[in-house]
Amino acid sequence: MMEYEYFKRFAPTRKENETNKEKCAVIYTRVSSKEQLTNDSLDTQYKECTSFALKNGFKVKKYFGGVFESAKSDEDRKEFRAMLNYVTNEKNKIGAIICFNYDRFSRTGLQAIEIISLLQRHSIKVYSAINTFDPESIEGKVMLTMTLLQANISNVNKSLDTKRKMREKMSNGIWVHNCPRGYARDEKKNIYITKEGEHIREGFKMLLQGFSPTEIQRFLLLKGLRINTKRWAEIFRNPFYCGIMLSNSLDYKPAEGKHPKLVSVKEFKRVMEILNRHEHPKNADFIVNHGVPLKGYLKCANCGTKFTGYLNRTKKKHYYICNNKECRSNVSAVKANQEFVEHLQNMVPRSIASPLIAKRLEELFIELDNINSKDIQSNENELASVKSKINLLADKLLAGVVSNDLFKEKLGELEFEKERLEALLEKQRINLSNPKEIVRKCVRYVRESPFLWQNEGFAVKRRVQQTTFKGDIYYDKKNSRYRTKDVNYLFHIINLITASYGNKKADLSLKIVNKSASVPWAGVEPARV
Ligand SMILES: [Zn+2]
Repeated sequence: MMEYEYFKRFAPTRKENETNKEKCAVIYTRVSSKEQLTNDSLDTQYKECTSFALKNGFKVKKYFGGVFESAKSDEDRKEFRAMLNYVTNEKNKIGAIICFNYDRFSRTGLQAIEIISLLQRHSIKVYSAINTFDPESIEGKVMLTMTLLQANISNVNKSLDTKRKMREKMSNGIWVHNCPRGYARDEKKNIYITKEGEHIREGFKMLLQGFSPTEIQRFLLLKGLRINTKRWAEIFRNPFYCGIMLSNSLDYKPAEGKHPKLVSVKEFKRVMEILNRHEHPKNADFIVNHGVPLKGYLKCANCGTKFTGYLNRTKKKHYYICNNKECRSNVSAVKANQEFVEHLQNMVPRSIASPLIAKRLEELFIELDNINSKDIQSNENELASVKSKINLLADKLLAGVVSNDLFKEKLGELEFEKERLEALLEKQRINLSNPKEIVRKCVRYVRESPFLWQNEGFAVKRRVQQTTFKGDIYYDKKNSRYRTKDVNYLFHIINLITASYGNKKADLSLKIVNKSASVPWAGVEPARV
């Protein structure tokens, strides 16, 4: 039998700093303007960071920064890059970066997100010595974006839901929209013909007997029916009065309704023949708009003017056309709509599975949420302390320890601080109660948006447009291409996550981060690596 116990002594002894990666830290300080170099800003940062490390049991292995680093271009941030290279080198076993506050850490939003995910993969946490979370910073913005997006998506879902229910009722012959003139609903919501409806019926009969619309209008006015000739023209052309429903909910497929009729179908058709002898029927606006959902959103890439949409009656085709009289760039709506679907599809990465994206996104948001809740805690503590100082001050005044003037001066300062903190907290308390659910919804939305736009009705299409693009949508006729700015940040983040997965060489290298940060994402192409 060998004595294994004996050989144990030959095992390498473990060094202290190897055992506890998470307690090994670097400190990073910087000032964002040259002026700050002259005052003690860097000193303060250094002191706060060091004392934070001491208080929290971190072993500081290296200091970075201590210089002015303009965050304008990444080339300038030599110390920052050196720090990132150092901490991501596994040999150095760094588990934490301590900086003064998060805005010292990274300025550009895109970079912050990517750097956070890079560090996450190396299990490196970023601590802020003073814990001021800036709602204007990327962390705050991302959370705000998520919250807003969530609201938007639930709007889309809600409207899909309502539409579904409406469609169901309509397929059963139940009219769900407002009733036209001459109808009302009873307590059980059943549609009945009103007294006014009886007069309208009379109007239809008169037209069939050969009276002109003007004569009908004048005659019925004497009976107390105030309907102008223009409205009469609409009434005579509304098939609802002969029991036929035409609605957006059924994609304008005519269906028979269960509501009472004023005239028979045969009579209605007869009325049409009479009217058409005099004038051509006018298409209602909604029918026109239906083929041009991008109307009012599209801008001409050639001159920057808005496109409008119209129906060419002879060709029976919809078009978008530039409103600028000098330009008049136009495109067939069928073509432009199809290209828009492709544009939407291009924005959504297809290369990796949704659960993977969802997982990364969730990690990211939990991380950001943690940062946020720490900051909230710290600000709440600070607020409580300011409040107790105010109380104390009042006690001192009552006890005659401070003069009235001094009291007023101090109180002013404290109240100013109190208001500042309260305003800050209000901004910070963004509710991210169920990140998993939010992320799932968001990813699903991003994936489905092209499909929704293609297959759903006008209202949903418009919502998708609003949710996906905050800014203008340009159509470039020459190249048959769309250009969009201000795409919802979520699309951007998801594309970056996808890109970083696609890059199997290593973790997301800084070079890639810098490259993607320096090219403002146009939204036309998915982020490329
Ligand atoms: Zn134009």
